Amino acid sequence: MHDAHLHISDIAFFKEMQKHQIEGIANAASPQEYHFLKELQAQYPKLRISAGIHPWQADTIAWEAMLPILQEAVILGEIGLDAVWCKTPMEKQKEVFEKQLQLGQQLHKPILLHLKGMEKEALPLLRKYPNTYLVHWYSCDDYLEDYMALDCWFTIGPSVGDDPAVTKVARKISLQHMLIESDGIDAIRWCEQKEVPLAAYRTYLTRSITRIAALRQIAEASLAAQLMDNYHHFLNKCELSV
Ligand SMILES: [Zn+2]
Repeated sequence: MHDAHLHISDIAFFKEMQKHQIEGIANAASPQEYHFLKELQAQYPKLRISAGIHPWQADTIAWEAMLPILQEAVILGEIGLDAVWCKTPMEKQKEVFEKQLQLGQQLHKPILLHLKGMEKEALPLLRKYPNTYLVHWYSCDDYLEDYMALDCWFTIGPSVGDDPAVTKVARKISLQHMLIESDGIDAIRWCEQKEVPLAAYRTYLTRSITRIAALRQIAEASLAAQLMDNYHHFLNKCELSV
């Protein structure tokens, strides 16, 4: 089982991940969070770390403080543009996003994208900096074909089967470019609009696989094997960069 994008809010959640031997990429949005995750990774090497200045913090995280971490991380992210869930000035978001796209390309590091309400505007920037892009929980009704044309990978979020846009992604993209993600236990709770116990974490990843297998009309076991292969293939791309 893998979880290609998550946030580790507390140790209990990390223990749950470790208990089920779930491999995953945890996100660091600040130097503090990166050092915290490095400590966890020392205990559990199946944990990988993505690091990037999130659009929500584009005006609060100092570039100089984050730069050595961006240079060290195997994957940059989550980075992107968000016109819906934050008030960060868009000019600042664009500036920080483009600097990170530039760096990712220079250092040959894959990039994990957070896009909300700016899916159209992000496209010319991605075309300017060709790279391996992993689009996290894509939930826009439009432009999916444009991202597919850029050969993007996608992580399918836990709202697959409930959210029509997310379901469309799961139906349409190449099975070779598909990964699954929880975005962390808090995101599962947000998406389910209820308290979800930590013990149910693994169940939600399994539920996504079950739902995607039904959408694609393939056997669940073969999808699960394919997704795990995809995850390892994607990690290989990341690790080639260091
Ligand atoms: Zn996230």
